[in-house]
Amino acid sequence: MHTDNCPFCAIPDDDILEENEHALAVRDRSPVSEGHILIITKRHVGDFFELSTKERISTLMLLEKMKQETDRQLQPDGYNIGMNIGEAAGQKIFHVHIHLIPRMKEQTVNGERFVKGVIRHMMSY
Ligand SMILES: [Zn+2]
Repeated sequence: MHTDNCPFCAIPDDDILEENEHALAVRDRSPVSEGHILIITKRHVGDFFELSTKERISTLMLLEKMKQETDRQLQPDGYNIGMNIGEAAGQKIFHVHIHLIPRMKEQTVNGERFVKGVIRHMMSY
């Protein structure tokens, strides 16, 4: 199923960093940290829990691949992985996407504020 209004159904080929059978990876357009990536399902489906087992495995394998790629490129100190499922959870684009957010120790020196910032950012999706 394809939805005309859905930005994740119309990702230009040039923006795709990596892909596999059921998922693709792109840079977040408003990153909360350097290297913030989205893993997006190829099928237009809103809810992670509605994915088939194959789609779920594919999506998580791409997440892992991009994590390894990010490890090599940025050597971050940690990661946030995030997903909003449902309007009540702050989901705005009803097409499954997982945030992969590299974190550096320097960003957490002022700790709490930054962490809250990430959560607020994710709520806007
Ligand atoms: Zn879509």
